[in-house]
Amino acid sequence: MVALWTAEILAEMRRSLLDWYQQAGRTLPWRNEPDIYRVWVSEIMLQQTQVKTVIPYYERWLAQFPTVEALAAADLQAVLKQWEGLGYYARARNLHQAAQQVVTDFAGQFPEDLDKILCLKGIGRTTAGGILSSARNLPLAILDGNVKRVLARLIALEVPPVKALDELWDASETLLDPENPRDFNQALMDLGATLCTVKQPNCPRCPWQNHCTAYLKHQPTDFPRKAPKKQIPTKKIVAAIAFNLENQVFIQQRPQDGLLGGLWEFPNQEGNIQPLLTDLFPGAQYERSLNTVFHAYTHFKIQVEPQIYRVNLSGSGWVSFQNLKDYPFSKAHLKIIEQLQDSQLSLPI
Ligand code: SF4
Repeated sequence: MVALWTAEILAEMRRSLLDWYQQAGRTLPWRNEPDIYRVWVSEIMLQQTQVKTVIPYYERWLAQFPTVEALAAADLQAVLKQWEGLGYYARARNLHQAAQQVVTDFAGQFPEDLDKILCLKGIGRTTAGGILSSARNLPLAILDGNVKRVLARLIALEVPPVKALDELWDASETLLDPENPRDFNQALMDLGATLCTVKQPNCPRCPWQNHCTAYLKHQPTDFPRKAPKKQIPTKKIVAAIAFNLENQVFIQQRPQDGLLGGLWEFPNQEGNIQPLLTDLFPGAQYERSLNTVFHAYTHFKIQVEPQIYRVNLSGSGWVSFQNLKDYPFSKAHLKIIEQLQDSQLSLPI
């Protein structure tokens, strides 16, 4: 299908997309930003997160870590605290590590050579293309989720995008305007985010309507083809919210690697909590349970029952309830803290 675009058609598609972008493109804080560090932060935050959620995080992040040096020198806990609530925390850990790579290996200058960029933690081909086309106007294609959807519709791709990545990269590279890669890529992302949306593509306003195979077949929402749905398991977890006699609460840090690495949490256990209680809180007195908390990750869901305990212990890991805000927590555990605040369970007994 890609080979069917003649030079004239490609020129027309580029021109019509750029014209549309001039009129309808979004105004975003990182758009036309020459500081590569700022563009890089935006690209990482935008992976799997929508623009409206990203903007306040982006602004707070730059206020706290205005340069790559500031980020590299920061404590991981401060980095995770800034990311708290944005999800996919590996992005924050990788950004932090990559900043240290830039400072140590590249004297603080973000590399502009594709091979070197791809050595940085958390930067793959589409992120590299996004950063260099946006900040330096280099002719590198992108293929994020929005772009995959637009291209899959454009060529009426008959298999799920994940099974045809080479073909989609080929399409993105073929379409890219070598004269104006910055605006072209930004326009393509805006097209996916604002017109070629998942559920209700606004084809009548689309600059590529005449070239879009899915539209011409009257089936835009039949594309991209979906991979068969896998059953997502639910894990039933009990969290022990232990208060001591000074009304401090016990928290622990997750290992640095893996899901939610480096975040803090209340001790928890899938299934029976008794062995954990015996181990950490001997003599714990059960008080009551809070409302069950639900959260969905990419490959599984969790259902957490928070149980309040009183114990006669102190020392390492015990913090005052007011100081919990200094620690980065996952969404599920933040929901538990909100309930604790609402019910004022932290007040001295
Ligand atoms: S015509 Fe419709 S389906 Fe095709 S690219 Fe445009 S908005 Fe998407």
